[in-house]
Amino acid sequence: MKKTRTRSIMVLLMTLAFFAGIIYHISNLWVHSAEWASIPENAHLSDSNGLEIAGTVYDRNGVVLAQSVDGKRVYNDDEAIRKACLHVVGDDTTNISTAIQTVYRSRLTDYNFIFGLGMPDTLKNGRNITLTIDSEVQKAAYEALGSYRGAVIVYNYKTGEIICMVSTPTYDPENVPSDIETNDEYEGAYINRAISASYPPGSTFKLVTSAAALNTIPDVEKRTYECTGSDIVAGKEINCFEPNGFIDFREALARSCNVYFAQLAVDIGKKDMTSQAEKMGFNSYIKFDEIESAKSVYNVSKASQNDLAWSGVGQYEVLETPINMAMISAAIANGGSPVNPYIIKDISLSSDSGQKEHGKTEGSQMMSGDIAKKLYDMMDYTVETNYGKSSFSDSLDVCAKTGTAEVDDEGDSHAWVTGFCKDEDCPLAFSVIVEHGNSGYSVAIPVASAVLNSAANQIRN
Ligand SMILES: [Zn+2]
Repeated sequence: MKKTRTRSIMVLLMTLAFFAGIIYHISNLWVHSAEWASIPENAHLSDSNGLEIAGTVYDRNGVVLAQSVDGKRVYNDDEAIRKACLHVVGDDTTNISTAIQTVYRSRLTDYNFIFGLGMPDTLKNGRNITLTIDSEVQKAAYEALGSYRGAVIVYNYKTGEIICMVSTPTYDPENVPSDIETNDEYEGAYINRAISASYPPGSTFKLVTSAAALNTIPDVEKRTYECTGSDIVAGKEINCFEPNGFIDFREALARSCNVYFAQLAVDIGKKDMTSQAEKMGFNSYIKFDEIESAKSVYNVSKASQNDLAWSGVGQYEVLETPINMAMISAAIANGGSPVNPYIIKDISLSSDSGQKEHGKTEGSQMMSGDIAKKLYDMMDYTVETNYGKSSFSDSLDVCAKTGTAEVDDEGDSHAWVTGFCKDEDCPLAFSVIVEHGNSGYSVAIPVASAVLNSAANQIRN
């Protein structure tokens, strides 16, 4: 009797384990099968990764960026728009890991738990995606970058909508170059540099050092210095582009005095510099619409005091992504906290039960409202006195900071500009990186100017 009972219990336990296993596997299939079907390794499921039957991708104005016609994936009629939107939309190869056609492939193709990719047409309903980008502004950014490698990102700091996100080098998704893997011209063409590349930020990082200084040095706004073009900071020489003369804190940012900011970083110290940088997005990923950025990096744990000084002017080993930089400008424009950027305006799906609300979300606070206001005025003053408001636009009131960042490899420095428009009807934050552009003022500002003017035209009309 005892033996029978033991056996019964064992059979019961085995039966329970059997059903638990089945439930585990089915639930795994339920949760992950769409991802498994959409990974690039499963490209054999169809010739164009299933995209030949996928839904349409629109820009914010309803312009078709990609659609399926007669079993073939086709892109916008205008080659410049196709190239400008490549890194956002993607292509048939799904090699651009952060592109919408890669990340959202299973949903665009209407992957279904029962039917897989072979959902009968009669059961299909909406599976289209409308993006927040404007294809005309994309085109303006692509044309403004010209033959340079680089990236542009512009987003609405009140709503979070990404209006423009362009990366070069690019290629035509209708005619993927056959030598794309071997031709140097296309090196890194699968990377969306606006979110997946990080660069030395140079003087644009002085915004971070400024925020840290305002936070930790009570009388920093009264601190004056006479810059003769170079000085010894923490035992070694730090150079400025030219002698900046007698300056205070505000003037030091406007004229981008390296010696002043290098000394500030040393006085602030590693702990507070790191803490401010991390509040502003360094050392973590930025996530939006299931897309993840590269990390901006600020790590001075092994830095000498002179290295720490250089880190205060965005050199040493500091790295920043263009999207992070745009979010810092957005935070300054928006009272200390950025609205998080996003790129999917609308998504209509039949099979995705986990459909989420897309739209505005608040980011974490990067600085106090008081410090944001001070940096706002300083960036305003920088443009007013140093670059000239008209170098950006006659119809927009832009506040900004440029950077020209030295790079290890041979060649010219990288050119940066980041900032925001004060205009109530065009609340745009932006950053532009031009690789080896050599001058933030003469190379990056004209790109920003072309893109902002195009965006203003689109938004105001
Ligand atoms: Zn100086």
